Amino acid sequence: MRTAVYPGSFDPITLGHLNIIERAVDMFDSLVILLAINPGKQSLFSAEENTEMIREVTSAWPQVKIDQTHGLLVDYARKNDIHLAVRGLRAVTDFEAEFSMALTNRSLWEEFDTVYLMTSAEYMYLRSSTVKQIAEYGGDVSGFVPPNVAARLREKFVPGGE
Ligand code: ADP
Repeated sequence: MRTAVYPGSFDPITLGHLNIIERAVDMFDSLVILLAINPGKQSLFSAEENTEMIREVTSAWPQVKIDQTHGLLVDYARKNDIHLAVRGLRAVTDFEAEFSMALTNRSLWEEFDTVYLMTSAEYMYLRSSTVKQIAEYGGDVSGFVPPNVAARLREKFVPGGE
């Protein structure tokens, strides 16, 4: 049984993340979407809200599990006997940070490896922080996030919500 973990902040989940998830579920028997909680990083949504939104958009896949960690990815992986991480690569600019993270993780646990999926072209410039900025200024985010996430963003930023 091949399990992979897809770690990230997912604050909130976007169509770019979902594209990686869709492709990863075809490659592995099971996929854990891991909300990596960084106390030093201010998030817009709570871990519970982000988990709920991820659950809503992945409910069609019984092989997808959602979990959270406050610690290191490799510690979580080792504890759960998961040897593979999946990450998405958008532009070349992602490469350097991802390369050093993959090497660092492998030096922390030599049995751990990372596989990269290239983003689909339409999501190349899509990141959660941009989506949050657009929503904050009342822009239309429906092309970037699933409908449930767009609704939550409206609730956050537009007085009276929905
Ligand atoms: P971000 O806040 O930049 O969206 P996350 O920590 O939530 O970053 O991202 C988790 C993983 O998903 C990372 O591997 C990231 O490169 C990937 N990812 C994020 N957005 C996209 C996208 N539009 N296309 C492909 N992969 C993406």
